[in-house]
Amino acid sequence: MKCKQCGTKVSHDDFFCPECGTKLREYPEHYQSRGPPWNIILFLIVFAAIIIFAYINREQIVQIVKQILNIKL
Ligand SMILES: [Zn+2]
Repeated sequence: MKCKQCGTKVSHDDFFCPECGTKLREYPEHYQSRGPPWNIILFLIVFAAIIIFAYINREQIVQIVKQILNIKL
């Protein structure tokens, strides 16, 4: 698609024209929603849990990794 202001070729994903800055379309509803980004917070919690789990079980994980490497070799 093209910018209606300057005719520059723009991506369908672009909200603003990279050339002249004209607003191409409205932000989707979820971009405007306020409040904390729960999906990111949830991801960080899960990630932290994995790190903690890996730290606590690092000996077992080392053994598992060694086993996997042995199988592959
Ligand atoms: Zn433009």
